Amino acid sequence: LSQAPMLQLHQLNAWYGESHVLHGIDLRVMKGEIVTLLGRNGAGKTTTLKSIIGVMSKRSGSVKVQGIETIDLPSRKIAKLGLGYVPEERGIYASLSVEENLMLPPRVKDGGLTVSEIFTLFPNIKERLSSQGTKLSGGEQQMLAMGRVLRTGADLLLLDEPTEGLAPIIVDQIGLALKELKKRGFTVLLVEQNFKFATQIADRHYVVEQGKVVDQATNDDVLRDESKMLKYLGV
Ligand code: ATP
Repeated sequence: LSQAPMLQLHQLNAWYGESHVLHGIDLRVMKGEIVTLLGRNGAGKTTTLKSIIGVMSKRSGSVKVQGIETIDLPSRKIAKLGLGYVPEERGIYASLSVEENLMLPPRVKDGGLTVSEIFTLFPNIKERLSSQGTKLSGGEQQMLAMGRVLRTGADLLLLDEPTEGLAPIIVDQIGLALKELKKRGFTVLLVEQNFKFATQIADRHYVVEQGKVVDQATNDDVLRDESKMLKYLGV
């Protein structure tokens, strides 16, 4: 039996007000895959994630989550299909403690990780349980933001540049956590500028340019010949 993709975008268009930013994005992510969106600044990667969770002022085309069409659903209903979005700015509540940040988000689905499972995945934040959000390092904030969506029961994670601005040792820890999540059956679509990190964790990649997917490759293909991908990224 063939399985419906966890996520499938077909001819996705999206607008900020009058400004038409996505011009027919096509991609699919199967359950348990880690897939990246690569591309230069302003290409439309963040907008693609925002369109999937339904927070753009206007979108058209098709966005299916486990075979369910969401293009006309409000974002709270889309979230309940098991989507967990971590924005680039991470969205930690500054005045709340780590523990309160973890407890706050509503469940979207059964089967969310327990707090102790989250601490096993991200030992750094266990030490900071009663610290205020503002006191955390960038890496701790990223781990807390990821932990928070894992509490909700989301099993399709949309991560916007999770490694941005982080020290290499913290980037490695986030990579290990993502590999562990993959083993547990989570599905991840992430925007990533760190090409090396992307090739260490991902199964496949899509290249976005001017609001369209212009190329795609398996990670094995990219590792065999990095030059084509690097050219897209202007490296
Ligand atoms: P970056 O890495 O810089 O975030 P990106 O590939 O994620 O790049 P997007 O943030 O999706 O790119 O931006 C795509 C296009 O949409 C850009 O031309 C950008 O200027 C425009 N854009 C982004 N946010 C808004 C907004 N809130 N209102 C209007 N236009 C926007």
